[in-house]
Amino acid sequence: SSIFAAVEMAPRDPILGLNEAFNADTRTTKVNLGVGVYFTDEGKIPLLGAVKAAEKARLEAAPARGYQPIEGLAAYNNAVATLLFGKDSALITNNQTLTIEALGGTGALKVGADYLKRLLPNATVYISDPSWENHRALFESAGFPVSNYAYYDAATRGVNFEGMLADLRTMPAQSIVVLHACCHNPTGADITADQWKQVVTAIKERNLIAFLDMAYQGFADGIKEDAVALDLFAASGLQFLVSSSFSKSFSLYGERVGALTIVAASKDEASRVLSQVKRVVRTNYSNPPTHGGAVVAAVLSSPELRQQWEDELAGMRVRIREMRSAIVEKLAARGVKQDFSFVLKQRGMFSYTGLTAEQVERMKTEFGVYAVSTGRICVAALNTKNIDYVADAIAAVLK
Ligand code: PMP
Repeated sequence: SSIFAAVEMAPRDPILGLNEAFNADTRTTKVNLGVGVYFTDEGKIPLLGAVKAAEKARLEAAPARGYQPIEGLAAYNNAVATLLFGKDSALITNNQTLTIEALGGTGALKVGADYLKRLLPNATVYISDPSWENHRALFESAGFPVSNYAYYDAATRGVNFEGMLADLRTMPAQSIVVLHACCHNPTGADITADQWKQVVTAIKERNLIAFLDMAYQGFADGIKEDAVALDLFAASGLQFLVSSSFSKSFSLYGERVGALTIVAASKDEASRVLSQVKRVVRTNYSNPPTHGGAVVAAVLSSPELRQQWEDELAGMRVRIREMRSAIVEKLAARGVKQDFSFVLKQRGMFSYTGLTAEQVERMKTEFGVYAVSTGRICVAALNTKNIDYVADAIAAVLK
């Protein structure tokens, strides 16, 4: 008989499963607020002008497609480190950092996880409660036990910071703590700069290892502003890891552009760590693809394209904020009693609305408005054409 005869069907990815249901829905009024993707006011995934220009130049130059180095394109890696830490960063001038090009933020997390497993085979990984749904699976697949630290406070729709700190303070030394650098997914609730300081102190005191996930730099307040956690870790003297994703900020989802950056104590340490990380890559996918990283490097290294990209990123950020204000206003205008002003405080693409799984189910069946069963909606999928319909749906299920 077949070697696959007894293979069981794996559970469907909850969010991708939602997409399939959405695609099968024949109602023309349907709205998909499930996926974590930025859409324009026309409901399209944008191809940024800066990306288009860099791609055109690259196409005209018609570069040969030889293998990249295992760690990817040097110009890209340098640009990523500069984006994270700023061009005057002592970490960079001291060569204390190493960056490798990775296959999206997911790929960066996985290479980082696999490397950490070799370095600290007995560590436990802690992720926020709740967290991006792939964090647990990723670190478990690298062989780590994964636990939660307190994060979201349903009562205030903000962060249970006391709980978070208390959990950090009881973790065993050399535990790995995955932190959302900004724009927490799924809740949209971030901690303040002052709270980040306390997190850094707790991590230092307990000898923990921070792994900062930076998937939305520029979506809250700006590129530099959203790196406040990185600045504090950089100044702390600690060693830590950062995963970067340009899926959202460059709207390059399918090109898989990300990076893993590790901060070591010295230049010598950084080069030894890099040599080990390269072994992880070599035995996985050998070296990253050429196109996406080359495009991002070209944009970041040209003053004109960089400015154009920053303007386009600001445009996305502002449009999301406008949708936040609009949905709050429109719910109030429909006589919704609940206070939705928390939506204005949440940052990034998502909002934890507080809608129950039952209410989310009703929005889907009665209105064809798709959200994640946890009540997470993608605010970046709202637009001036669908927002009234979405507000009607939410108001109806809240009555
Ligand atoms: N981390 C977080 C918090 C995310 O939300 C995402 C994407 N949804 C990722 C990592 C992965 O990013 P990428 O699509 O670049 O792999």
